[in-house]
Amino acid sequence: MGSANLEPETGYATVFSLRIQKAADAWAMPASEIMGNVIAHELGHLLLRSASHSFAGVMTARWDSMTRMRDLLFNRRQAGAMQGQIMSRARKPASADVLARQRSTIPRSAILAEVE
Ligand SMILES: [Zn+2]
Repeated sequence: MGSANLEPETGYATVFSLRIQKAADAWAMPASEIMGNVIAHELGHLLLRSASHSFAGVMTARWDSMTRMRDLLFNRRQAGAMQGQIMSRARKPASADVLARQRSTIPRSAILAEVE
């Protein structure tokens, strides 16, 4: 329902809203609860700088109709690692070159189009 590109300094996350709506319909859950967790999951990949998944919590690889969306959390290690990443980035402002590459990484058509 989402993906993360982990390229250093130009990484980005994509969330597939049609897939989320289909899952919401199939699982009889609010799409907003699934969407929030998908966004958190993909941001987790970006901030953890890892494609790895965990056995429990919001960073699990698969969810289904039995997944309790309100109970999906980051564990303490993940939370600490993400806080460390954020603090590290806050201390090191991006150069103009990096900012230009970030702006050109995602084509505008990809932002506007729904990709299955
Ligand atoms: Zn994932």
